[in-house]
Amino acid sequence: MAAQILDGLKLANTIKDQLREEVQHLKNNSGAVPVLVNVMTGMDSRAATYAQAQKRVAAYIGIRYELAQLPLHISQQEFMDHIYQLNEDKNIHGIMIHKPVPHQINYRQVANCVDTLKDLEGINVKNVGRMLLGESKLIPCTPAAVMAHLKAAKIPLRGKEVVMIGHSEIVGKPLSLLLLQEFATVTICHIATSEARRLEEHVNRAEILIVAVGKAGLVPGEWIRPGAVVIDVGINQVGEKIIGDVVFETAQKRASLITPVPGGVGPVTVVMLMKNGIEAFKIQMQVKDGIRV
Ligand code: NAP
Repeated sequence: MAAQILDGLKLANTIKDQLREEVQHLKNNSGAVPVLVNVMTGMDSRAATYAQAQKRVAAYIGIRYELAQLPLHISQQEFMDHIYQLNEDKNIHGIMIHKPVPHQINYRQVANCVDTLKDLEGINVKNVGRMLLGESKLIPCTPAAVMAHLKAAKIPLRGKEVVMIGHSEIVGKPLSLLLLQEFATVTICHIATSEARRLEEHVNRAEILIVAVGKAGLVPGEWIRPGAVVIDVGINQVGEKIIGDVVFETAQKRASLITPVPGGVGPVTVVMLMKNGIEAFKIQMQVKDGIRV
C-alpha cells in the first residue's frame, strides 16, 4: 500500500492560522506587531523567490517583514555594523541572515553578532549552546518544521530508531539534538558514512528516516524499511523539477508516511521562522499570556 503523504501545505496553513490569531491578540494588548528583517547581500532570483514567500506568509500572519539589502562587496566590518544597528533598533524584533553570504564575509562571526533575543534562526553560538542544553526558545526553523511534522502526525519518538542523514549546522545537528531530547535513539550519517558504503545498512533499520543532504536520488526507495516514516528535507533542482534526496516513487511504496518535495518540510519551515519572530517579539516585549508586563 502506498504511504500516506505528510502534507506540508496543509500543516503550514493550520499553524499560520494559529499564529495569525496570536499576533492579533498581541496587537490588541500591546499595540505593536513583530517586525522581522531579512539581511541579504545581493539578490539572485532564488533569493528573491525565497524572500517573496517569507513576505507573503508574514503578511498573512500580520507580521511586518523587511528586507535589508546590503551591497555584494560589503566588508566584514560594515556587515557587522549593520547587524549591530539592527540589534540596537527597538522597533526590530527579529533578524535573519540570508545564506550564502559573499566569500569575503566570515559567516560565523556575523552570526555571533546577532542579538540572542532577535536571533530568528538560532545561529548565534550562545543560542546553539542553549539548544544543546534544551533551554533555547529560538529553535532553528527547519529542524522545528520537521519536529512539527512528526508531532502533527503523532509519531512517537521515545525509543525509536531514527536515522538522520546530514549533519549540517542548520539542519542535521540541531535536529538530532531535538530528537535526542525526545529520547529517540539517533544515528547520524554523513559523507563518511557514504564513503564507507554503510548508508544503506543504516537506512535499512530506520523506523524514522530523515534526509537533509541536497543530493537527488541519494536514498533509493528499496533501502527503506517497510513501514518507516520518511522525512525528506532535501531540495534539488533537476531540470525544471524540484525533487528531494529520497527517490519518492519507490520510497512511497515501502514507507508508511512520507513528505513530498516540494510541499513537505519547506512550507512549514517558513512558518516556523514566523513563529520564532513572534517568540522573539514576546521575549523583548515581555508579553505573558498576550499581555505586556
Ligand atoms: P549542507 O550544509 O550542504 O549539509 C549537507 C550535509 O549532507 C552535510 O552534513 C554533508 O556532510 C552531508 N552529505 C554530503 N554528501 C553526503 C553523502 N553522499 N552521504 C551522506 N551525507 C552527505 O546542507 P543543509 O543546509 O543542511 O541542507 C541540506 C538540504 O536540505 C539541501 O538540499 C537544502 O536545500 C535543503 N534544505 C531544505 C530546507 C527546507 O525547508 N525544506 C531548509 C534548509 C535546507 P559533510 O559536511 O560531512 O560533507
